[in-house]
Amino acid sequence: MSFDGCQGCGACLLTCPVHAIRPVAGDGPAALYARPDLCTGCGECVEVCPVDAVTLLARERR
Ligand code: SF4
Ligand code: SF4
Repeated sequence: MSFDGCQGCGACLLTCPVHAIRPVAGDGPAALYARPDLCTGCGECVEVCPVDAVTLLARERR
């Protein structure tokens, strides 16, 4: 998953049903990563992002 162009609004973190998206500690609010062991590939974070910053990798879609 990539977050290129993220504005740090936090919507994707709040939306993810399994809390897979986490801020990267000490790197500012716009730095995010998604735990691959938790992400189900539901795509809700992609839908909710106001600036279309979230991109699922092909292997993450289910
Ligand atoms: S695809 Fe679904 S499970 Fe994965 S990070 Fe986004 S909202 Fe969470
Ligand atoms: S919803 Fe988009 S802009 Fe907001 S924190 Fe997530 S990736 Fe960044």
